[in-house]
Amino acid sequence: MAELALTVLEAIEFVPGFSEEPLWLARIEDALRLVNQDLAASGLCQTCLLRVQEDGPGLTGNAYIETWNGHTGTGQGIFPASGADPVTALTAVAEDAQDAVMQALWSVWPACPVHQIGVNARDRAKAAVWWCAGDGGHSVTAIGEWHGH
Ligand SMILES: [Zn+2]
Repeated sequence: MAELALTVLEAIEFVPGFSEEPLWLARIEDALRLVNQDLAASGLCQTCLLRVQEDGPGLTGNAYIETWNGHTGTGQGIFPASGADPVTALTAVAEDAQDAVMQALWSVWPACPVHQIGVNARDRAKAAVWWCAGDGGHSVTAIGEWHGH
């Protein structure tokens, strides 16, 4: 009986990772392609890479972004479940990539062309956008559609 209870508990606490949900990883890969387009459009001729941490004791099994020169973000990376829908995937990837890129550049990226301040990845009306806090807040562009420098 105790054994059965333990089995049930494990089943409840089980959180699927990328190995159980390969589509989640595919969505996160698609999201990184869009963020890399923004890197190029903002004048950085570099691309970020997707890494996946191993799953195991003390390891999260999360994905994370690594810059061209080996920098990573300071947060927990991208949880596998972020890949459950494209907007969440894009927002999570943009956030982690931005963190990693800022570690690499030692400056703000990307910056709002109007206000010259850093923007944040945000889920706004079911779309992933770069959001600027200037002038009461505005959407600069959809993530993946950065224009010019
Ligand atoms: Zn702005």
